[in-house]
Amino acid sequence: MYTDKPKDECGIFGIYNNKEIEDIVNLLHRGLFGLQHRGEEGAGIAVATTRAISLFKGAGLVERLFSYDEPNNLQGHSGIGHVRYSLIGESNTANTQPFAANLGLNPDQISDEETPEYGAVFSGAYSNSPFAVAHNGNFNEGLEACCKGSDTKAFTEMVSKSGEHNLRRAVVNSLRKIDAARENGSSWALLILTPDWMMGARDPDGYRPLSLGRLGNSYVLSSETCAIKDIKAEPIRDIAPGEILFIDKKGLHSEYIATRIPLHQCIFEYIYLARPDSIMFGESVYNVRYRLGRRLAEEHPAKADIVVGVPDSGRIFAKGYAESLGILFESEAIGRSHYFGRIFIQPKHKSREMGADYKFFVNRELVRGKSVVVVDDSRVRGINLAKTVELLKEADAREIHVRVSSPPYISSCYWGVDTYDTSLLVALHKTPEQMASDLKISSLEYLSMDGLLSQLDHRARDMCKRCFERHYNETNKS
Ligand code: SF4
Repeated sequence: MYTDKPKDECGIFGIYNNKEIEDIVNLLHRGLFGLQHRGEEGAGIAVATTRAISLFKGAGLVERLFSYDEPNNLQGHSGIGHVRYSLIGESNTANTQPFAANLGLNPDQISDEETPEYGAVFSGAYSNSPFAVAHNGNFNEGLEACCKGSDTKAFTEMVSKSGEHNLRRAVVNSLRKIDAARENGSSWALLILTPDWMMGARDPDGYRPLSLGRLGNSYVLSSETCAIKDIKAEPIRDIAPGEILFIDKKGLHSEYIATRIPLHQCIFEYIYLARPDSIMFGESVYNVRYRLGRRLAEEHPAKADIVVGVPDSGRIFAKGYAESLGILFESEAIGRSHYFGRIFIQPKHKSREMGADYKFFVNRELVRGKSVVVVDDSRVRGINLAKTVELLKEADAREIHVRVSSPPYISSCYWGVDTYDTSLLVALHKTPEQMASDLKISSLEYLSMDGLLSQLDHRARDMCKRCFERHYNETNKS
């Protein structure tokens, strides 16, 4: 059932402006900048006037997109934006979002047809029942139309060709059909923009996050609360799993596709994906990471002079680990260049390896002759950690212990995170002892699944944790 199609682990951001925000493009820029960690391959915005939607998108970082004059000349009252990272294989700028289309008119001319290669931008305008779509997740099943290259494009076409004259009905019915076709489940956090209203929705399993915020009388929708705070708005609540929230001049109106128990909210958001100052699924990401570090120390204590964290997300776990054992947390021992992006979310394996090479540096004065515990958030492909260990050895660390703050990552994810190629999942092929032997270090230990779940209290039941379960590789081979 799974096909070799690019899908997205991304960030989405939207503002429904109740006539009080003067520069919508500037605020969209700020919001997307706050979500840049969720995708560095491409970015785009769509803004709505009273009649039309304008689109501007291209390859590269948010900063790059907004360095062109054109987005700053876009006119509109409300808008949505997207940062993208492709899931499978080669980077493909033709799939950069948002997509835009007209309801029932020219449905084949969906907005990515002319999206250029890296370094250029696409812009276009839509004016006949127009709508724009920004999506985080995977539509795995239930798409009626099939557009090569993007499930989000196929969804846009499905809505456009639905035969409905009412766009709200077209969207709701399309989502219902997709959910009804679920076998293993589709994942979506979704924004739709029209000249009159905006919509935010999450799938009934709740895989991907989406939060609602308020700025005066205007509303904000964002993958993470950090970006809501970045534009000085106040987070209000999460969009509920299965909820379709419409925002228009009358206010908020919700419909529900289905309720499902248990939910499958992505536990990897807590471990790696989310920014630490976000509130994710009702809980502070920072607090969860800190507690997991303490639990890791209970399960796998090590005698050492200092504890260090692999930047950036490993640091909070390392702090919890060190404070639990009363060992010095040496926060500045490993640094990272801020001129190179996140490694896990870079699309090509080769560029990931190059990234690890450029990205980290070790302060020799802090580690020379010492026994060091190095803590990482997870070990997926293992590149970051291997590079960090190499640098610690070059800096003359006397002894190295590795601690990983999540269980072994051994299965592919089909719900929005790029780990389809199981040959790259190091923990699927090697035991912790083999990894320690390969790295030539004193020990390597993982947090247990019980340890992970114990730190999420009642939320544990409603978490997807399939990437830590072998079952999913055996039954869902792609
Ligand atoms: Fe998140 Fe893992 Fe589930 Fe994918 S499989 S949604 S990465 S918890």
